[in-house]
Amino acid sequence: MAAATECGADASAPGNDMSLRKALSPLALRVVAECPVTKARACDLTLPHCAVSTPVFMPVGTQGTLKGITVDQLEGLGCQICLGNTYHLGMRPGPDLIEKANGLHGFMNWKRNLLTDSGGFQMVSLVELSEVTEEGVKFKSPYDGKEILLSPEKSISIQNSLGSDIMMQLDDVVSSTVSGPRVEEAMHRSIRWLDRCIAANKNSDKQNLFAIIQGGLNAELRKVCLDEMTQRDVPGFAIGGLSGGEEKNDFWRMVTLSTDHLPREKPRYLMGVGYAVDLVVCVALGCDMFDCVFPTRTARFGSALVPWGSLQVKQKQYAKDFQPIDPECQCHTCKKHSRAYLHALFKSDTAAMHHITVHNIAYQLSLMRSVRRSIVEGCFPEFIRTFMKRLFPSRDLYPGWAVDALASVNVTLE
Ligand SMILES: [Zn+2]
Repeated sequence: MAAATECGADASAPGNDMSLRKALSPLALRVVAECPVTKARACDLTLPHCAVSTPVFMPVGTQGTLKGITVDQLEGLGCQICLGNTYHLGMRPGPDLIEKANGLHGFMNWKRNLLTDSGGFQMVSLVELSEVTEEGVKFKSPYDGKEILLSPEKSISIQNSLGSDIMMQLDDVVSSTVSGPRVEEAMHRSIRWLDRCIAANKNSDKQNLFAIIQGGLNAELRKVCLDEMTQRDVPGFAIGGLSGGEEKNDFWRMVTLSTDHLPREKPRYLMGVGYAVDLVVCVALGCDMFDCVFPTRTARFGSALVPWGSLQVKQKQYAKDFQPIDPECQCHTCKKHSRAYLHALFKSDTAAMHHITVHNIAYQLSLMRSVRRSIVEGCFPEFIRTFMKRLFPSRDLYPGWAVDALASVNVTLE
C-alpha cells in the first residue's frame, strides 16, 4: 500500500527496469480521504497502466470498442479505466488473435487500464441454452452451435490472453429475483470457483483478479460469502448479484452490508450500477468503482444525461433550441453543438448518437470527479443535498429507498 502514487508514474512508464517492475504489486490502494459522516472515501488506485482516482465510473466496451465513441475521445474525456467484454472477445475475434495483438490494450490501442468480466454473466443472460455444473457453464456457441464449456480456468485463460489490468472471477450467476436453495448453491460454488480462478491465474504479477461477493438478497448468505472470500488473498472485491431488477430497498441493504465487511485497504467494485442517484448513494455506502451500459445505451435512444435528469433530444421542443445539451458541461458535444442541431441530426444520421454518447460519458465522469472533490474537501453530505435538489423538482419525489439509505449513513435530506 505504501508509495502508491510514486509507483503509479513508474508502472506506466514504458521500458522501465524489470527488477523494479517485479517489485511492484499490480495494484495499490491509497485512501486519500474519508467522509467523516458517511462511509464514502476517495482513493488513489494504482493499476499497471495508470493511476485511477476513485470513486470511479467505468464505461463499458463490448467488442474492443465502446459503442459510439473512439478510444481517443475516451482518453480526451479523462477516462482512466474502461471495461472489455470477455464473452464477446473470447468468441470473436478470439483470445489467440488478441494475444498476438499485444492483448486487448494493443488490439484497441488503449493505453490506460482495462477491466474484463469473466464472460459468465453474458452467457447466462444472452445464451438460452446454458447449463451450470460444478465444472463450469456449458453453452452452445451462437456462432457455430458447438458446445463450449466456460470453466473458471478457461475464463482466466481468456482474460490472461486479453491482458486486462483487472480480471473478474467466474461466478455462478443467479438472477437477483431468484430465492431459495439455488442462491445458496450458487454462493458456495462461487467461492469454490474463486479458488480455481486464483490457481489458474498465470499473470498474478501483472493482472489483478477480483472476487465477486454473491448471496442474493439473503443477509446470512452474503455474510458467509464475505467471511470466506475476504480470507482469500485477492487484490480487490466486487459486489455481485445485484442490479438485476430486485427491490431497491433490498439492493441498498445488501450493498451496505457488503461494504461493512470488506477490508478498508482493498477496492470495492459495485457491478452494474450507473444511474446518477444510485452512484451517489452507493458512494455514500462505501463503494469505489462502478460500471453500467446505461449511459451509452440510453444515448443511442437520444437520451442525454443532465444534472436535472435527462433530456430527450428527439422531442419537438428542442427543434429550435440553440442552447447546448447542458450549458455547464465541458464536453466536445456541448461546446460545439446545439440541441436544435442534434435534434435535426438524429433524424438522418447516426452521428447524433455519437455526440450524445460522448456527452453522457462526460457527464458520468464529471459527476464522479465532483463526488470525489467533495469527499476530499470534507463536504460530501452537502454535495448530496444539492445534487438531490437539482435532480428532483420537489422533496416528495425523492425515492424512498435513497432517503432511507442516506439516513443509514447519517445524511438527512431536508
Ligand atoms: Zn456535454
